[in-house]
Amino acid sequence: MKDAYMVFVLIVVVMTPFLPLLWKNRCPACNKRKLVGVERTPAPEDEGRYLTYFACQNCQTEFTREKSGPLFRSDANSPSQSL
Ligand SMILES: [Zn+2]
Repeated sequence: MKDAYMVFVLIVVVMTPFLPLLWKNRCPACNKRKLVGVERTPAPEDEGRYLTYFACQNCQTEFTREKSGPLFRSDANSPSQSL
């Protein structure tokens, strides 16, 4: 049992530098792991909400996520037109 634990620790230590790469989000539009977080100024009505913005490096589609909820596609022209 102790050997198995040591192997597990070793794997975790070896894998740690690669975790950001593995955790890169998959783009819902093109299914490639090219989704990266982007800095964006939230719209006035979005202030106070915990929004995270993402952009796909492959298909250029932009997404928004509230807290740890699901990704939803951002409308680039009118981000607040979700109603
Ligand atoms: Zn994409």
